Amino acid sequence: MEAKKKDIRALTKKQLRDFFVKQGDKAFRGNQVYEWLWQKSAHSFEDMTNVSLETRQMLEDNFVINHIKVDQMQRSSDGTIKNAVRLHDDLVVESVLIPTATRTTACVSSQVGCSLDCRFCATSRLKRMRNLNPDEIYDQVVAIDNESRLYHNRPLSNIVFMGMGEPLMNYNNVLKAIDKITSPEGLGMSPKRIVVSTSGVPKMIKKMADDKVKFKLAVSLHSAIDEIRTSIMPFNATFPLSDLREALQYWYAATKNRITYEYVVWDAINDKRKDAEALVEFCKFAPSKVNLIEYNPIDDGEFQQAHSKAIDMYVSVLEANNITVTVRRSRGKDIDAACGQLANKS
Ligand code: SF4
Repeated sequence: MEAKKKDIRALTKKQLRDFFVKQGDKAFRGNQVYEWLWQKSAHSFEDMTNVSLETRQMLEDNFVINHIKVDQMQRSSDGTIKNAVRLHDDLVVESVLIPTATRTTACVSSQVGCSLDCRFCATSRLKRMRNLNPDEIYDQVVAIDNESRLYHNRPLSNIVFMGMGEPLMNYNNVLKAIDKITSPEGLGMSPKRIVVSTSGVPKMIKKMADDKVKFKLAVSLHSAIDEIRTSIMPFNATFPLSDLREALQYWYAATKNRITYEYVVWDAINDKRKDAEALVEFCKFAPSKVNLIEYNPIDDGEFQQAHSKAIDMYVSVLEANNITVTVRRSRGKDIDAACGQLANKS
């Protein structure tokens, strides 16, 4: 029965080579199949045209390729595309293509639902069902790359792990996916064009430093005052700012990479001067960049974007302290594809 067959993409290259040797074939056949799976993104064994019919049948008898299926694609008036992606067990996640004048960025999901509980985020209302496998993350990137070529006439240039889920809660699979995406035996993208965005899991930030990862780190901070941060991101009670800061110091000492903070300013929550000054204090220990992100209200309207005067105040306080700051307009609002809006509503 199909369901009992193993997903061939769970095998390493060595395991694939060993499998062929066990079948009395040559080990290099494993290399060929590996290339079809990870470089040419084959959806079926039939696609593997330089492999004999007999071998393809043998693979069919032993394995499946659990490829994702883009169930629904929505295109925004600003060129943003949102994919509802069906997984082999019928669960659904979302991923987004964000085009700008100079780049096309894939925003990919790492979990079905999320185990964290950020109160401003639509995904937090979905129960965390499971982690995504490396191939399911990789497939989202390939699907978006194809759409980028088709609708924007250029390949995908950047990837951010800012879709559904907390990537550092699915660390091993995220790392394996990035390996396939960046390896010359995979998609060959530069790790410098990949950003893993975390809500701040101190232990895992330190692990990333120890693992000497080459991709970039962004932290969804949203407040540098514990009381306020805990009220909007309740897990901050478990991982307070002092722990996060210590982990980021460790990360900076190991990588010397500038730290990016994602930060939304909400009306009557974190829009005062003392909030901006606390952010400056928090950033001081390492070269930092702050992205002030426009907020897209979710159903209950509890969180509202701050007035532009508050954003201007943040910009001037940060700039006065030599901290790079960018104000980011959100994209794809009309299709619920903007930051914090991914909730399988399509
Ligand atoms: S913001 Fe990210 S970490 Fe927080 S609940 Fe949403 S998906 Fe999870």
